[in-house]
Amino acid sequence: MRIADIYKREKPVLSLEVFPPKPGYSLKTVFRTLDGLKDLNPSFVSVTYASQGESTDRTVQIASRVRDEYSCESLAHLTCIGHSKDEVTQVLDNLETQGIVNILALRGDIPEEFVHRKRDYHFASELIKEIAARENFCVGAAAYPEGHIESKRISHDLDNLKSKVDAGAEFLITQLFFDNRIFYDFMERAHLRNIKVPLVPGIMPILNYKQIKRILMMCEVSIPAKLLSMFDKYSHDPGDLAKAGVEYAIEQIQDLVEEGVEGIHLYTMNRVNQVREIVFRSNLREQQ
Ligand SMILES: Cc1cc2nc3c(=O)[nH]c(=O)nc-3n(C[C@H](O)[C@H](O)[C@H](O)COP(=O)(O)OP(=O)(O)OC[C@H]3O[C@@H](n4cnc5c(N)ncnc54)[C@H](O)[C@@H]3O)c2cc1C
Repeated sequence: MRIADIYKREKPVLSLEVFPPKPGYSLKTVFRTLDGLKDLNPSFVSVTYASQGESTDRTVQIASRVRDEYSCESLAHLTCIGHSKDEVTQVLDNLETQGIVNILALRGDIPEEFVHRKRDYHFASELIKEIAARENFCVGAAAYPEGHIESKRISHDLDNLKSKVDAGAEFLITQLFFDNRIFYDFMERAHLRNIKVPLVPGIMPILNYKQIKRILMMCEVSIPAKLLSMFDKYSHDPGDLAKAGVEYAIEQIQDLVEEGVEGIHLYTMNRVNQVREIVFRSNLREQQ
């Protein structure tokens, strides 16, 4: 089913994001995660794509097994930076053969060695246009409530978001954020730009200190005072920090649902227990 139709049918839509294991590691681990999350009955599962020199095979394999063996709609991520048009066409043919209908079309991060290299793609909007032209896919795109890291102004980022929607993106999933007020403000600004497709908040629970540091280096998101004091209080106690991270995510989700968001996209980080607790305790699903 096209994900755009899922957003028309349900509210709030629950989607879970998983990532393939590192190259050389068996896919079994991700399927163990999916086994543990299956009874949450997500409306769809998205599978990330590690762009740096890896093939899309593992993402496609996982996405097609999610649909066939877990009877759950899947969303395959696809990045275009560093790929030629021919390579992308091949990937799209493969996705079509495997019956994958939904694609999250991304540019991907630019590796340093690519900076001066000739490229077939510069921005995600080019990939979106190409996929949308094939008509048999439903395309989604990424959104950044605090602006993309390369972007100097949020208004520039919103212009880009509008071009992604105009190119054919039918739903948008955001980068993680920890202050809901930033998301609400972004949503308002997106509506003012006539961006009418579902704009879905991406929520990442903080489960350990290393993860926080990595996130801050990669995305430059704001940390509210409440979260900062949580880090201070629990920085030497990994178990309590993870518990507090779960509580924080639950509060964030409950507030977003009360405000009427169209969906919640949970970055699971392939964790089972914490994700189950978050989903049940924020009433996104009932525990049987
Ligand atoms: C929900 C979500 C899922 C993700 N999944 C993955 C994944 O699976 N694998 C992965 O490698 N990465 C993933 N990413 C990260 C993403 O690849 C990076 O953030 C990347 O740097 C930008 O990708 P994009 O598709 O947003 O790019 P774009 O939309 O192309 O934007 C990139 C930058 O270019 C600017 N820009 C766009 N168009 C123009 C233009 N015409 N002129 C000038 N500037 C312009 C934008 O403002 C922005 O600063 C994900 C991100 C999100 C939010």
